[in-house]
Amino acid sequence: MKQKGQGRILNFSRQREIIYNQVMKYPTHPTAEEVYRSLKNDNPNLSLGTVYRNLNQLSEAGMLLKIPIADGSDRFDGRTDNHYHMICEKCLRVFDVELNCLDSIPQTVIEAEGHRITRVTLNLKGVCRECLSSENNKTEQ
Ligand SMILES: [Zn+2]
Ligand SMILES: [Zn+2]
Repeated sequence: MKQKGQGRILNFSRQREIIYNQVMKYPTHPTAEEVYRSLKNDNPNLSLGTVYRNLNQLSEAGMLLKIPIADGSDRFDGRTDNHYHMICEKCLRVFDVELNCLDSIPQTVIEAEGHRITRVTLNLKGVCRECLSSENNKTEQ
């Protein structure tokens, strides 16, 4: 993992550490509530507000990625490198999608318009592979 500048290193409280590790453990882009529920049994003192606050601080520090979902709760991602997301409209899971073809957007925009693009975020909506195959199974029966 890339080392961040000194000023950006968060004071790693024990709580923040377990919250961070929990998101890193699950590549499912959990919501704050899901992180909270998965930790609650082992950490009865933890509150949903604490989880939410720590997740936001971790994402502000660049250690987690916050994925705002238009009609749902924010999701959090332990993967902070450049990648995109597809949200399944059936099961509402969020999947990582590699779209290398979009890497040229910042260069294209600066050449065409003169704007400097700092980040390309894109949420795709669709139906995931598993939901598609269970749909197909149903229609075959
Ligand atoms: Zn699905
Ligand atoms: Zn992701």
